[in-house]
Formats: sequence, structure tokens, C-alpha cells
Amino acid sequence: MPELPEVETIRRQLQKNMVGKTIKVVEVQYPKVVHGMSTADFVRAMHGRKVREVGRQGKLILIRLEGNETLVVHLKMTGRLLLQSARHPEPRRDSRGEGSLYHGMSKRLPRSLRSLAMTDYSVNKSTEVIFTFTNGSILRYDDLRRFGYMKVVPTSEEAKVVQKEQLGIDFFDRVLTVQKFKELIRARGGSQIKPLLLDQSLIAGVGNIYAQEACFMAKIHPLRKVSSLNDAELNALYRALQTIMKKAIVYGGTTADDYRDAYGKEGKFAVHLKVYGRQGKPCLRCKGKLIKSSIGGRGTVFCPKCQK
Ligand SMILES: [Zn+2]
Repeated sequence: MPELPEVETIRRQLQKNMVGKTIKVVEVQYPKVVHGMSTADFVRAMHGRKVREVGRQGKLILIRLEGNETLVVHLKMTGRLLLQSARHPEPRRDSRGEGSLYHGMSKRLPRSLRSLAMTDYSVNKSTEVIFTFTNGSILRYDDLRRFGYMKVVPTSEEAKVVQKEQLGIDFFDRVLTVQKFKELIRARGGSQIKPLLLDQSLIAGVGNIYAQEACFMAKIHPLRKVSSLNDAELNALYRALQTIMKKAIVYGGTTADDYRDAYGKEGKFAVHLKVYGRQGKPCLRCKGKLIKSSIGGRGTVFCPKCQK
């Protein structure tokens, strides 16, 4: 499931490639993906609209359009927003089985579009919506498990959607200072720290991977009761989340299962993970054995020796 760094990676790529572009055609292949209105109304609502900016709150992507409406996209478990420079047929493989018809073509494209030319153009059975822009470029929404959705709301009512999704303050929202972070966490003194970090209604964006990594970096046992954490420990936890998630954005997020960015590429942060997926392996700090247990129904890896 994408977490803040993955969704932010996608947001930045959409912001870079879609702003100023006008939607020409919308094809909905899976009508249930559209919430709150009929497919026909959705297609009409999107037609001729220019993209103003792309925002994010927690794991929600907010594509703001001219005319003060916002296309809200929730990727849920397996949703993917994929950019393509133009609609092409399936790339043909050459005789060496590598590269494609578009390799040569991509060299002639401006640098900013080259990565787009390398994406897989094929629309497949998980493709739910295809937006074609007036310049021929495409944004496709694929969702293998079909849990994601999109809906159109007045931009002034984005907050209502956020509220309905029960999303708290985004971890990278400027108002979430270390003081505010500690205040929010301490208000739930009876909770265990790691499940609390996953609670999107308190702080939005931190998911299972980065919560584990942050607890390890801050040397905090994931089962610690919040009321037992002192000021220094909470400061360390806040710093750890900041450091890890900022670095993860630089690396385009983590592909642990099927996450792909808007260019169809895997995130490259997985090699920097210290505990996630490393159960049974030596702790990188103390060489003790990392263990995995289920905490709040989610697999959690930690070092019982140096996370107290
Ligand atoms: Zn250790």
C-alpha cells in the first residue's frame, strides 16, 4: 500500500507533467471507480478542464482543476496513476528481447518526456479510467484490486472529503511541528506507539513500513505505551519520521509489493530499509536478531535488544 512518500512521489510527477494541460477525452472502463455521480456526469465534468495544480493530503491525491473543482483520487491498496506521453500501440520488442520500438524515438524526445516514452503503454484489464489531454498525453488509472476511487468535488469542499476519510493532519503539513506532534501523540496516552502512528485520523501519511523504520531509528519498542515515552523519545521519533520519509521521497518511495510511480517505475528506497522485511537477519546496529510480530494486526519487525 502506498504511504506518504510514495503518494508524494506521484503527486510531484503529476504536478510536473499535468499542470496547464487540458483534458480532452475521458474513458471510464470500470464505472464503479467513480463515486458520487454517474459515469456520464463524470465524463462531462472532466471534459475541457485544465489542471491547475496537484495537491495531496495523507494518501489522497487532489487534482485541482480550473473552475474550482477537484478530482480526488484515492489509490487505496493497488491503485496506480500512470502518465504516458501519447497513446501508442504496444511497444514491439526487438530481436534481442530488450528495448522497444520507442527506444530510438525516446532519444529524440525532450529529456522531461523520455521517461514517459519508456513506460508500458498497454491498457490492460486493471485499467479503470483513461484521461487524454489535448496535447495527446495520457493519464491512466489502473487498480488491480479495485479498492481505489475517484470523485469530483468543489475545491472549497475538499476538507469535507478529508473529513469523511477521517484524515488527520498530514505529516508534512507545516502546522505539524514537533510540539504539535507531541501534543497529538500524548493525547492518546493509553495507546501503543506503533499502531498509533498508523492511525490516519491522528496523523495522515505514515504507514506500516515507515512506522517500523522510525521506531527502529528512534530506538523505541513498537509496543511501548505512549504514556511511557519521555520528551526526548518523542523528539527522536518525530525526527526519525521526518528523516526517513524525506529520504524516501528523494528515492521515489519504496516498492515492497506492487507500487509504481507515475512513470511506471519502482521506488528505490527499499535497499535503505533497516528493519522492514529483515526479520531473522542481524540488527544493523547491535547485530542481534531482528524479530517479527503482529502488532495491531500488522506485521512489525524490530530489534528486541536496542529498541526499548
Ligand atoms: Zn539492535
